[in-house]
Amino acid sequence: MIRTERIVIVGAGLGALYAALELAPRPVLMISPEALGDGASSAWAQGGVAAAMAASDSPEAHAADTVSAGAGTVDADVAAMVTRVARDHILDLTSLGTPFDRDAEGGYVMSREAAHSAARVVRVQGDQAGRQIMETLIAALRATPSAQVIEGALATRLETDGDRVTGVWIASSRAPSGEVLIEAPAVLLAGGGSGGLYAHTTNPPRIRGQVIGMAARAGAQMADPEFVQFHPTSFDIGEDPAPLATEALRGEGATLINRHGTRFMLDVHPDAELAPRDIVARAIFAETQAGNRPMLDTRAALGAEVLTQFPSVAETCARAGIDPVNAPIPVAVAAHYHMGGIAADQAGRSSLRNLWVCGEASSTGLHGANRLASNGLLEALVYARNAAADIATTVPLAEAAPVPVAFPEGGQDPDPEAVAELRRTMTDHVGVRRTAEGLETALRTIARLEAAHADDPSFLNMTATATLIAAAALAREESRGGHWRDDFPDPNPAMAHRTLLHLSEALALRMSVLNEAQ
Ligand SMILES: Cc1cc2nc3c(=O)[nH]c(=O)nc-3n(C[C@H](O)[C@H](O)[C@H](O)COP(=O)(O)OP(=O)(O)OC[C@H]3O[C@@H](n4cnc5c(N)ncnc54)[C@H](O)[C@@H]3O)c2cc1C
Repeated sequence: MIRTERIVIVGAGLGALYAALELAPRPVLMISPEALGDGASSAWAQGGVAAAMAASDSPEAHAADTVSAGAGTVDADVAAMVTRVARDHILDLTSLGTPFDRDAEGGYVMSREAAHSAARVVRVQGDQAGRQIMETLIAALRATPSAQVIEGALATRLETDGDRVTGVWIASSRAPSGEVLIEAPAVLLAGGGSGGLYAHTTNPPRIRGQVIGMAARAGAQMADPEFVQFHPTSFDIGEDPAPLATEALRGEGATLINRHGTRFMLDVHPDAELAPRDIVARAIFAETQAGNRPMLDTRAALGAEVLTQFPSVAETCARAGIDPVNAPIPVAVAAHYHMGGIAADQAGRSSLRNLWVCGEASSTGLHGANRLASNGLLEALVYARNAAADIATTVPLAEAAPVPVAFPEGGQDPDPEAVAELRRTMTDHVGVRRTAEGLETALRTIARLEAAHADDPSFLNMTATATLIAAAALAREESRGGHWRDDFPDPNPAMAHRTLLHLSEALALRMSVLNEAQ
């Protein structure tokens, strides 16, 4: 056991880095599984950050779009708070050195994305927002003496005393190792979402709901776990994870066609390709299921500019042998963003004392049943700052020596076959279209895999999150936002509220499914 006065931050994405900078000069210890910045969704973000920066736009309009996209379960106070401060965060990222795209007059170049009533997404070099923001913050963090980073470590469990978190267990992420307990005055979880729990995902391989599951297993309250956003347009080129064809392409006028050349979104929604994500995702899924091979056609809208305006897209096309100037890009639906997660109040506090959360691991009420495009990075920024400010009022400023860590022998990596089966089960039965029968099948499979690997905390973190998603999806007998039930295709007005639950309740539901099967 190691005792430190440092605030422990689990993760090294946007939320973690920004919080560490906000906390300075308070000493922090950041747990980063990879080299700083690698393996985080943040670095892969292409579109940008939503913020009402244009004179013709307003935080109120941004909040209204957020509430409307969220399909009846957004916390309007949260949406108002987040959109009000969005501008300040963009200005602060700019002063840290983020090279946002600017027009000739120095104004921010804004992209239009789905379900936004205005062009409202600040971007960097077309589709490089995530990478550039992360590089800017990493450079700032490297110059911050109060921040210590342990690279090559991951958190496996929280240590608790009643409802108080007292520390974090960590292990090596580079080779199987035993765990070390780090006791600390405060823990901030910034470990990202759950997309990688699905076989078809846009998320980096490490983002598999482990940090959400860890908090759930420690008894923290969870919110909205059933709400997973599926991105309509990942490249369908057989890669895991599936590269993203950013929504900004549709914002620029790219269309969705099938192998017959039919622009199928015109019959689905008045906003066609710019309809809310869940609607576009289900339409693409239907085309795939029908063997119609959906494709994103950038030819008329962008021509050769797709190569210069969207370098990540161009790079993926080159790797896959696709020439987007002359041919449409094959696309498929992929798990992309988890609206649910660890329940957090506006200060980023979880239900456990000494435990804060920010970014995609949290569920704050901003996204409701369906996240508005590019509100993810914004939420990570806002809650990193809010949590840091709240921690600073709670934890006295103290000197802290660097923490020495040596991992003991032992431990194991999660069994790759079990992980693959878990991910397949999630895609097959807990994906873009759900039924009671499929969800029950998933819960039985998750329970079996969990029982067979009960000594592996990292795997148990994944199965905890998978159980929460599947159980809450089974309990929500309606369709709303990212959650679609074939057996309950309509929204039920009586269910227009958030889900709040503990892992124990999800496990009880799972147990009742197992008992029924016997
Ligand atoms: C391809 C892609 C494109 C996107 N585009 C956009 C966009 O344009 N705009 C937008 O707003 N949002 C976008 N999103 C969503 C957005 O990127 C994320 O919601 C956001 O980056 C989350 O930030 P975070 O700091 O919470 O998590 P992340 O950036 O995912 O960081 C999580 C960190 O936790 C670490 N970690 C994981 N498990 C553990 C563990 N057990 N112990 C310790 N550390 C752990 C990871 O290694 C990583 O460092 C996109 C997501 C993807 C995948």
